[in-house]
Amino acid sequence: MVVVDSIKKGIVIDHITAGRGMKLLEYLDVDTAHDTVAIIANAVSHKLGKKDIIKIENKVNVDMDVIGLIEPHATVNVIEDHVIVRKVKPTLPSRVENVIRCRNPRCVTATERGIVHTFVLTDEENQEYRCIFCDEIVSMKAE
Ligand SMILES: [Zn+2]
Repeated sequence: MVVVDSIKKGIVIDHITAGRGMKLLEYLDVDTAHDTVAIIANAVSHKLGKKDIIKIENKVNVDMDVIGLIEPHATVNVIEDHVIVRKVKPTLPSRVENVIRCRNPRCVTATERGIVHTFVLTDEENQEYRCIFCDEIVSMKAE
């Protein structure tokens, strides 16, 4: 049983690559006006050297696909009554819709409205995704 101080109920995303916490938070679409969110940047980690941690209070569901897309090595801890009740490891999603936006100006998603930006996983090692419309490749890997 691990006790996490300062959060009674919510989600702690641990083992985020140092400096990537903000980026992950942007993609997660967390409502910072209503949810209590804390980013601990550059925390000392035995595993990673430095890491970021995100704490979201009173929220028990996050989009695991988005976490898997940005930070597949993260650990998601679900906290209830100050105790971790569940630890979830994200996996790279094989397909994502409306998470990554295609940057190719000639892509149909750029010229036409209302198209679902769809990317499929093509290279697991390099976290590379391909736009299904124009074959543009996007790497989600941390530099
Ligand atoms: Zn495209």
